[in-house]
Order: sequence, then C-alpha cells, then structure tokens
Amino acid sequence: MSNRHAKIVILGGGPAGAAAAIGLARLGHEPLLVSAPRRQAAVEGFSDRTMQALETLGFARALDAVGPKVGRRAFWGGDQSRVNTEFVVDRKLFDAALLADVEAKGIKVLHERVARVIRSGPPWRVHLASASVITADFLVEARGRAAPVSSSERLQGPATVSLARVWRGVDETPATAVAGMRNGWSWYASPGGGRAMLQFLVSAEPGDLPKRHGLAAFYDEMLRASGLPREWVAGGEPMGDVVVRRANPICANHPLGDRSIRIGDAAIAPDPLSGHGVYVALGGAQAAAVTINTLLGKPENANLARSFYEERCSLDFMRLCRVGRAFYEEERRWADRPFWRHRSEWPDREPPHPPMDAFAPRIERRPVVEDGIIAEHEVVVTPDHPRGVWVVDGVPLAALRRALQADGQEADMDRLEKELERPCKSIELARRWLADRSLLK
Ligand SMILES: Cc1cc2nc3c(=O)[nH]c(=O)nc-3n(C[C@H](O)[C@H](O)[C@H](O)COP(=O)(O)OP(=O)(O)OC[C@H]3O[C@@H](n4cnc5c(N)ncnc54)[C@H](O)[C@@H]3O)c2cc1C
Repeated sequence: MSNRHAKIVILGGGPAGAAAAIGLARLGHEPLLVSAPRRQAAVEGFSDRTMQALETLGFARALDAVGPKVGRRAFWGGDQSRVNTEFVVDRKLFDAALLADVEAKGIKVLHERVARVIRSGPPWRVHLASASVITADFLVEARGRAAPVSSSERLQGPATVSLARVWRGVDETPATAVAGMRNGWSWYASPGGGRAMLQFLVSAEPGDLPKRHGLAAFYDEMLRASGLPREWVAGGEPMGDVVVRRANPICANHPLGDRSIRIGDAAIAPDPLSGHGVYVALGGAQAAAVTINTLLGKPENANLARSFYEERCSLDFMRLCRVGRAFYEEERRWADRPFWRHRSEWPDREPPHPPMDAFAPRIERRPVVEDGIIAEHEVVVTPDHPRGVWVVDGVPLAALRRALQADGQEADMDRLEKELERPCKSIELARRWLADRSLLK
C-alpha cells in the first residue's frame, strides 16, 4: 500500500477529467488524475465541433483514435433525412488515447479504481481499490454518471436507459442511423468492417424494464418490433451481453462545493438525444480549470467564481434539455405514448434558444475569465448570450459602445485605437457585433 498527497486530485479520466487535467496544467498546477477504464463497450458519434475542441486542447492521440466520418441517416417523425455528419467513436479506444495524451504532457495518471471518497482532515481522502490512499486539498469529481450524487442533490429528467449490443457480420460500410420507435428510439453506429453497435433508448420508470436476466429477451423483442433497426443489422449476429447505460438527464444542484468541483457528466449529464455530451464536457472542464485556479490563487474572488461556474452549468443544462425536448416533439407519430409525451413536456415549455427580441440587450457587471482568473467586468447581456459578452477580438464591448455613442456618427478611429489599445480591424469587428444587436442606436 502506497499513500501520496496531491494538491488537486481528479477522479475519472474521460473527456472531462482529461480536459481539466490539461487545463489545470496549462495554468501551472500539477494535478493527479486517477482513472480506471470504462467497464462496458460504448460507441458514440462526435460532431465537427467536438473534434475542433479536442484539437484545441492538444488531444492528438485521442483524435487518431476517432473512427470515420459518416452521414447520419435520420428516420424521425415519418421523414427520412441525411442532414448531419458525425465521427464514429469507440469510447474504450478513445478514452485510453485521452489518458495517453494527458501522460504525454507530463501529467501524472494513476490507472486505478476509486473505491471511496471521504471528506476529512486533509481535507480529502481518496481510497483506491488497491487499498492505497490519496490525500488531496482539492477534489475534481469527473467519474461521469458513476459519480455518486444523492437524489436530493440533483435535478433529474425522465428515467431512461440505453440497451445496447455489439453486432458482427453487418454491412461493411461505416454508417450511423437514428430512428424513432413506438416506445423509444434507436441508434446504430458502425465504424466499418462489419462491426456495429445498435442501442435502444427506452423508459426506465419502475415496471418498464425486466430484471437483468430478462434484458436480452427484452432487447430481442424491441428488435423484432422495430422495422428499420432490424434492417440495419440484417445478416449480422449479436455478441456478448446487453450493455446497460443510464441516460436520464441529470444536473447536480451544487456543482461547486467547498474544496471540490463536479465536472462533465458528474455536473450535467444531458439526454443523449440532445447530442454534444462530449463537447459540453470538454468546455465545462475548461471553465472548471479557471474556477479552481481562481479559488486557489485568488480566494477573494471565490463568490464570483461560484456564480460563474454554477450559472454556466445550469444554463448549459437547461439549453440542452430544451434542445432534446424539441427533438422529442418532432416525433409526432407516437405523441400520445408515455415515452414521447413525458419527454416532449420536460423540462418546461421555454424555447431552446430564446428569440433575439426576448429582452433588450443591457450592460451588467458579471464574472468573466481574464488571464486564467475569474474577475468582474462590464459585459453585454443579450438573449443569445445570457451570461454576457465582455470582449470581441480583445475589444471591451461596453467601453467601445460608450465611446461610439459619445462620438456620434463620426467615430474617431485613431483615438479609439489608442484608448482601447486594439487595432482598427478588431475595433471594427466589435463595432459590427454591437450594431448587429442594435446596440449603437
Ligand atoms: C447512451 C449514451 C449515448 C451517448 N452518446 C453520445 C454521443 O453520441 N456523442 C456525445 O458527444 N456524447 C454522447 N453521450 C454523452 C457522453 O458519453 C458524455 O457526456 C461524456 O462522456 C461525459 O464525459 P465525462 O468525462 O464527464 O464522463 P465519462 O466519459 O463517463 O468518463 C468518466 C471516466 O471515469 C472513469 N471512472 C468511473 N468510475 C470510476 C472509479 N470508481 N474509479 C476510477 N475511474 C472511474 C470511467 O471509467 C471513465 O473513464 C452519450 C451518453 C449516453 C448515456
């Protein structure tokens, strides 16, 4: 048994934990990442945006582990379309590559399973399955949906599970497809080579699912009743057990604790139908890194850091839930079935993206990220940017607006360049941003 101490320990090395480790290292910290491989097979689809985020963070090996880009076929609401493209990703390979990237950047990774976490003297004690103990000053909870959270400490959407099976001997062409069904929806993903994963997303409300030993028969029943998914796996045979993954939307009420923070799915786990889970986990982890940097390096800004991080989590979660609800609403064929009805009504009736005239843009003092620290500045709050925008291309919007309004029609560019210490090109970009939102009248 070997014990060690870390200033910051990160539990879980999925996209969120790995991105937080890199973000913290960039800010001069030396986090210790503890992670055990995911136990079950999972295949997911990544958007271009997710790929760009991985590139920005320097995840070269993880990008290499991503499978082919395919056009997603969607059979939804009685229509057929091929609107989006996505990359097919084997999560076991991808997650291993994430950790290799983290280690290649000189960040310490312990490949171990966390058994128990206790809040005590140092202030954290992390007990590993190997019986070793890590003590830490600050704890980052990134174990995804496996991170413990009591029901009173979270907001939860309709209970949903994914029942998935790996298939072999299916069509060799890489492909993904999604289809609405009477009691759920299905997603098929094949990286090529005749292997694929077919999953059914169904209700997990009490009484809706059989016991574990009955899941294979339940899966077969879903497949028999489904027209399209049966065609997708035609000629193939399933391998191994049915893989069960919880898929309810979940949001922790307080993602930022005293000396701890929840990130990724441990903070907000979106409905898979809303997409972008990995993209959101990567972005949230970056926000968490500056939040931690502020708490440790500038504790007098702790309240600002809290409102920055908690507001970001709750706004992201509600937006993703509403995006998911809008997709459920589009599938009208079974609108009266409990599965579709519940999800078309949750979490509320608000639009995913408020209309541009929902309220008049205003200037407020809000927390923003400045040189890796959360500080307070004047920002422009608009319906499409509810947390506010501080700068565009380095130009502070509120100061520019004041200066332009003082100048009237004839903006003195030389003076603005000197006053704002930014080139004419950047000032013009920021001016256009304000004008597009009718902020220069
Ligand atoms: C059915 C389903 C389908 C999805 N499809 C997509 C998709 O197509 N595209 C997309 O972008 N998102 C998708 N998502 C969402 C995506 O999986 C998550 O949003 C994303 O992986 C969150 O990253 P994370 O790092 O927070 O958690 P995770 O990716 O879950 O990573 C957590 C890490 O912690 C490790 N861990 C857990 N417990 C322990 C422990 N006790 N000790 C040590 N290590 C531990 C795990 O092994 C894992 O490596 C889907 C989710 C579900 C449920």
